[in-house]
Amino acid sequence: MKRSERNSRSCLTHNGSCLQRIGGSTLIELLVVISIISLLMGLLVTSFKGTRDNLNQAECDNNLKNLYLALQMYADDNGGRCPIVTDLTQVPLKVKEALLPYVQSEEIFWCPNDGEKEAHPGGSYDWRMTHDPKTSLSGLRLDLLRHPNKVIIAGERSHGCHKPEMINVLYADGHTGLVTMQEFLRNITTPIEEL
Ligand SMILES: [Zn+2]
Repeated sequence: MKRSERNSRSCLTHNGSCLQRIGGSTLIELLVVISIISLLMGLLVTSFKGTRDNLNQAECDNNLKNLYLALQMYADDNGGRCPIVTDLTQVPLKVKEALLPYVQSEEIFWCPNDGEKEAHPGGSYDWRMTHDPKTSLSGLRLDLLRHPNKVIIAGERSHGCHKPEMINVLYADGHTGLVTMQEFLRNITTPIEEL
């Protein structure tokens, strides 16, 4: 009998038990290998998901920054003022109509993580439009704000697109950030002069 054949049929003693070799490996060795492969696959899937989430977050940030540029171009053509919206039930749609001539792609109105695009024809982002002129963006001149870096002017319609309970927002100086829903609501209901 060849040596390899003897190995494949040998019985190893380990802690008093007999382990059958299968093609040169014990069942335990095979299980260890399978466990390691499963672990590596899990790590790869987690890593891929993390990378995709980061890319989507970056794309959403980019959308908001491009919408800010469009808002500035709109203001340049309209006496420095933001779009005036009177129908508060149609805010995203009305702002989108105003900004469309100033964007290169309509896609920037949607967060890549928005799974209900058809339900939101105005896009994934809502704007700081209220009935109170002290808090509203409607017709506002951004260049006259005292603290534009503290005034949220737009944010995702629904929270949790990127992180649980958080929404991606755009400030009046063009920077973006993730804030809690409570912080978002507190900001947009505070008179702009007090921020
Ligand atoms: Zn988003």
